[in-house]
Amino acid sequence: MRAMDSRNYSNSNNLPPHHAFDVVVIGAGHAGCEAALAAGRLGARVALVTFSRATVAQMSCNPAIGGLAKGQIVREIDALGGAMGRVADTTAIQFRLLNRSKGHAVRGPRCQSDRQRYAEMMLAEVDAAAGVELVEGEVVDLLTAPDRSTITGVVLADGRRLQAPAVVVTTGTFLNGLMHIGQDKFGGGRIGEPASSGLSAALQRLGLELGRLKTGTPPRLDRDSIDWSRLQVQPGDERPTRFSFLTDMPITERQVPCHITWTNATVHRLLTDNLDHAPLYNGQISSTGPRYCPSIETKIVRFAGHDRHQVFLEPEGRDSRLIYANGISTSMPRPVQDEMVRAIEGLEQARIIRYGYAIEYDFVPPTQLLPTLETKAVSGLYLAGQINGTSGYEEAAGQGLMAGANAALKLAGREPLVLGRDQAYIGVMIDDLVTRGTEEPYRMFTSLAEYRLLLRYDNADRRLTPIGDCAGLVEPKRRQRLQRKMAIMERIEGVLQSGRVGNKRLDELLRRPDVTLESLSADRPELASLIAQDAEATEQVEIEMKYSGYLQRQQRQVDRAGRLESQRIPQGLDYSQIAQMRHEAREKFGRIRPLNLGQAARISGISLSDVAVLEIYLERLRRR
Ligand code: FAD
Repeated sequence: MRAMDSRNYSNSNNLPPHHAFDVVVIGAGHAGCEAALAAGRLGARVALVTFSRATVAQMSCNPAIGGLAKGQIVREIDALGGAMGRVADTTAIQFRLLNRSKGHAVRGPRCQSDRQRYAEMMLAEVDAAAGVELVEGEVVDLLTAPDRSTITGVVLADGRRLQAPAVVVTTGTFLNGLMHIGQDKFGGGRIGEPASSGLSAALQRLGLELGRLKTGTPPRLDRDSIDWSRLQVQPGDERPTRFSFLTDMPITERQVPCHITWTNATVHRLLTDNLDHAPLYNGQISSTGPRYCPSIETKIVRFAGHDRHQVFLEPEGRDSRLIYANGISTSMPRPVQDEMVRAIEGLEQARIIRYGYAIEYDFVPPTQLLPTLETKAVSGLYLAGQINGTSGYEEAAGQGLMAGANAALKLAGREPLVLGRDQAYIGVMIDDLVTRGTEEPYRMFTSLAEYRLLLRYDNADRRLTPIGDCAGLVEPKRRQRLQRKMAIMERIEGVLQSGRVGNKRLDELLRRPDVTLESLSADRPELASLIAQDAEATEQVEIEMKYSGYLQRQQRQVDRAGRLESQRIPQGLDYSQIAQMRHEAREKFGRIRPLNLGQAARISGISLSDVAVLEIYLERLRRR
């Protein structure tokens, strides 16, 4: 990797002499910003090329960060030195810990964000990042070596060429984006923004196969046209759960409430009567959308027995007039959207500022990627975010960080950064994508993580900060905070192991559901003083003690699975030579090219006997 240049090239008209960078990131959405920041932290000189500074880190849909499983991803990004958690904490207008009444493994922090402030702060992070240069423009083509096996740079619409040995594509929903509102169809990547049309052809020319997906968004309402007095209030948590391990508690800024209302029989009748005008039902849209996040027209068809559906009214910012109507995503014609909204309680006079719409876009089926998110077809070409068939800001940001880091690590001749399924939700997501692919927009759920008891939001720093530190992604302050927290945890554990009540050790007592660390500390000043020093250390010890039996069992499962994970498969292996193997298995292994037997076993349609045949074949090869 080249030594970093200390000059500040502040915009696209002020590029360095030969436009030569280590890494070019295309698109400054959630994936692109984390990719550029991660590569920059590793000392790479990065060009982050995006249509416009004004749309960096835009939230295309819901003004919220985190949620179930997504909250864990944000904490993981933060533990690895990423920006999303800090930016979300600073610009949040409401915090809620979801699933608070359930077990720790499935709780997820979420915040309502100030959409504009979030984007502004992320832009400021990018502007301030050493080695990262924001370049305004549209990338229309990719440059490669003559044999097309290695990336060498990108071409912009105005003819500029940026040379780089690594390129990370994070173009979101923009590739050949086509939006729908009723019968109206128009090209674009997001409402009011152009589509990206050259890149799809460039990717295909390099041998990558493309698919098509769709997603949608609800109408935004005018705050002042809603009758708030008729709606149920949903306040934030009294004690906010922060995302970033660097954010100091308590967060004291006033929180803004959300409100809840419901659809009703009139709304459902209106939508049913107009289904032939719905692009999703009249054949106008044929690509697959997210099953878990259906449009309101899909809900009334799929759940015909339900007499109402919940609608959350979420402010888009502390001072914004826009209210996001979460739950009524739609691409119905505008007059139907107007009528639908006004048939809902509290919204009788509501004015739509921006109509809901659906968007279809190209994606790259992600089985064409290595676990580093580098394409198998072109060395140095990485893909991250919605282009890989995922949906959601957090999923995009997690991939962006990994792709940016891996691009820089490869250039520096260092070991890649790949997280296991037992180490991070980010690891589960990337393994799912590159091993099984996806036929619909992929979103993270806790149910997708088989070791979710180990992958809690509260321990993301202990799981990942040491890994990020080894890779060079983590700032000293973060490392020091973790060391301090772990030292306090150790001291608390020491007190618990040495103290007794009768013949019971304190740590054994703590396993009882009615006993808390606080109750044990009542007449133990040393414990009380440790607890007062770090609330998170206290929470961690308590969780780990109470769940110790389950945690040990899950760790044993990880260790057993590790046997397969540790058996590497040579990348040039010719599967057609394995005569004993089923044809389908040979074809799938040859296409996915798993890195180890664990990954091979997770490919869909692969049976345990296929893996056994492969294992025996590898053993024979080794003996030879
Ligand atoms: P984006 O955030 O889309 O960023 C892409 C960036 O690339 C943009 O800045 C763009 O300007 C830039 N760009 C694109 N092409 C080029 C080019 N050729 N040259 C230079 N720059 C380029 N997610 C959910 O989880 N739930 C939902 O319900 C949901 N609904 C959605 C509805 C709509 C209408 C849209 C548009 C998105 C929705 N999403 C939803 C998806 C969510 O917005 C994305 O998952 C997330 O933003 C993806 O992040 P990304 O970084 O991959 O791409």
